[in-house]
Amino acid sequence: MGRRVSTTPLRMVSPGTLLGISALLVFSTPVDATVLGRQKTTCPVCNQQFEAVVLASVDTSAGVDRDLFARSAGPQPVFHLIATCPRCYYSGYVADDFRQEIRFPKGFVDQVLTSPKLNPGMTITPTTDQRMIPAAVRYRLADQCYRWRGMSDESMAWLCLRASWVARDRGSILPRTDRLQRVMGFIERWLPPDDRTTNQADRELELATRLAAELAEGRFTRYQVPYVKFVLAMMWRRHGENDLFELLLPPGKPIAGLSPLIVGKIEQARASIGQERTWQQRARECFHRALDAGEIAPRNQGPACYILAELYRRLDQANRAIRYYDLAMSKPDLDAHLADWARQQRQQVLSMESR
Ligand SMILES: [Zn+2]
Repeated sequence: MGRRVSTTPLRMVSPGTLLGISALLVFSTPVDATVLGRQKTTCPVCNQQFEAVVLASVDTSAGVDRDLFARSAGPQPVFHLIATCPRCYYSGYVADDFRQEIRFPKGFVDQVLTSPKLNPGMTITPTTDQRMIPAAVRYRLADQCYRWRGMSDESMAWLCLRASWVARDRGSILPRTDRLQRVMGFIERWLPPDDRTTNQADRELELATRLAAELAEGRFTRYQVPYVKFVLAMMWRRHGENDLFELLLPPGKPIAGLSPLIVGKIEQARASIGQERTWQQRARECFHRALDAGEIAPRNQGPACYILAELYRRLDQANRAIRYYDLAMSKPDLDAHLADWARQQRQQVLSMESR
């Protein structure tokens, strides 16, 4: 993929009014950002030429969630793995599914070009820039193409897992208001020190745990409480700890004292949780079928079991999560780092269950 990549970095900064939590919280950490480039691409279905966005260099210094979602300080790499042809909407991984030598199953090209065709649900013309097509749309179209192409359960599983990360990231953007900035400044005192080797995701979750304890101890004024709750819930949302988000902000029970902007953000976060879970359920089914069918290579079975355990944990099925953490740890090839995480996550499930 590297040889045709233009090195001109694209400006992919979020709109000025929006800022991710980590950009507010982890500003003390010097980071490189992921750099995007352009690659002339020809659609293997309709031959339309367009400029795909590709990753010229990848940075994951903003941490890795326990289901392996690696974040960049800048544009998220996972958002730019999938391209969509602006003419026929054929979609897939830029690096794999747009190869000119790719072969499609009989009937697939007709499905895309003639009937039933792909429906992006928005206006896309041959001159539409890739960045104007939301990642969620590109993933949904790729999912449809993968189904029509009869791709393996393992490929489907990873595609659905990545789509769940897109939903997570889109659903955890904080509005930048003076009030929130003040709250963020105030809670920074509980941010664990950054020793440069700490996973930033762990650091933020540690901050969330400390903040929850302070909240429970009544450390904040009644004017601060609604905003602290919102920030805390969004920290959990950011890492896909969605049960904790819902526990703090239960649906149907609005918190008094929040501005309409924040109330709207909470609704958006809630909707994005629904989308994330739908993708997670699909990923879970596909990983299951792939494992049961013996489709996954022996060296990848440990990670697949681990991911399956994480999906069960996140979908609130504790017993099954534990079974798959155990299964992952029983695989001789499991990477030591993942084995550590499996042990820690298993312990966390047990401690949540005993509450
Ligand atoms: Zn096309």
